[in-house]
Amino acid sequence: KPASTGKNSEQDEFTTSYGDEQTPTQGDQSFLRKVLRQKLVTTQSELEVQQRDPNSPLYSVRSFEELNLRPELLKGIYQMGFNRPSKIQETALPMLVSQQPQNLIAQSQSGTGKTAAFVLTMLSRIDTRDDTPQCLCLSPTFELALQTGKVVEAMGAAMPDLKICYALKGIRLGRGEKARGQIVIGTPGTTMDWTVKHKSIDPSTIKVFVLDEADVMIDTQGHKDQTIRIHKTLDKEKCQFLFFSATYDDEVMRFAEKIVPHANIIQLKREEETLTNIKQYQVHCRDMDQKYDALANIYATLSVGQAVIFCHTRNTAKWLAEKMHSDGYIVALLSGELDVSSRAKILKRFREGKERVLVTTNVCARGIDVEQVTLVVNFDLPMTKDRHADFETYIHRIGRTGRFGKSGVAINFVSDRHDEKIINKIGDHFCCSIPVLDAGDYDDLE
Ligand code: ADP
Repeated sequence: KPASTGKNSEQDEFTTSYGDEQTPTQGDQSFLRKVLRQKLVTTQSELEVQQRDPNSPLYSVRSFEELNLRPELLKGIYQMGFNRPSKIQETALPMLVSQQPQNLIAQSQSGTGKTAAFVLTMLSRIDTRDDTPQCLCLSPTFELALQTGKVVEAMGAAMPDLKICYALKGIRLGRGEKARGQIVIGTPGTTMDWTVKHKSIDPSTIKVFVLDEADVMIDTQGHKDQTIRIHKTLDKEKCQFLFFSATYDDEVMRFAEKIVPHANIIQLKREEETLTNIKQYQVHCRDMDQKYDALANIYATLSVGQAVIFCHTRNTAKWLAEKMHSDGYIVALLSGELDVSSRAKILKRFREGKERVLVTTNVCARGIDVEQVTLVVNFDLPMTKDRHADFETYIHRIGRTGRFGKSGVAINFVSDRHDEKIINKIGDHFCCSIPVLDAGDYDDLE
């Protein structure tokens, strides 16, 4: 990370503040995305399926009834408001819950229904008359494990004796004590200790093994080896192995084949973000105060659903949030020094509409999209550390997936020659025009 030179030029401010921003880990990003995501992501991408036994007919279901689930599980699914299986679930579920358990490697972007699919599988296979562990689900972080547990609780709400056991840091079993609960959800470290070292979990009773967010696991020091050690203890004939990931590069695939040999593979390609349906503008402002005035005017003119405002540094974000707050706006500030649970709280409130404006820096909002956001303001243009146009960040901030995605407005503040160059580069890169908007034009925004 760049160190401050002690001088107080603008460049220094820029570099230091950028440098001390805490990038959330992949696991944290993934958790925050889940906290925000209330609905399925629907995509137009085609599903690709590779079957272990290419001769067996591939079938997909249009309804949950076709799966012959037990009534209390079906009840739980409907109580969650699910009417029909998602795209990936249509094909995955028949393989997952069939009498002859099949192994599966599934890849699709976050929000497409993977968690619901494996939770349903685990619930369909357990015997609740007995509280010995029967399913083992590994998650990369503490928060993600708890989040999965919540889905198990919700979907299993009508199953009376269901018990979840969390194998997480800080949860201790007494010497010789056995883990109790049909479904064990844990991080690899603690789960390995319980299974391999303390023998609190008997691997021979495990019927389903789930590896969630495998791509994040692979990037976390130690997780891969711990997972392999747990995996070694499981009965390869009797246990069903399931592997889920949002990405699918060679390394993830090699790991998948180690954990789930001869698997069925289902892939749903990620739909790229596009700028279609997004009206983009640039507004020229000399300094922060002018930017602020422009922002206030735009906000007053547009009937904005919710807005996200991106600043380059934590200091600017803080300044802006405070100024807006003192002018009577109800704003939330998402800033880099917060831990993951505080960030989650802020994002959750925002998603629930408790605040209509979210001020943030790029680093901590990476990969987060809130459906109801209709206005994105680049208070500072997205730039890389060496101050070049950052195209990837630009499209992440304002782009939408799905051809039928909602429309939105994106406003870019341009304050000097360098900004002008950057916004031109962005326009060229995405082959779109980003017209200049003057103070008098704000009424045309609607
Ligand atoms: P992923 O694990 O791929 O990120 P999730 O299983 O968490 O996806 O699903 C994303 C969101 O969609 C969640 O809010 C979940 O409750 C919801 N969801 C999942 N499956 C369905 C379905 N069949 N119908 C409606 N909503 C669903």
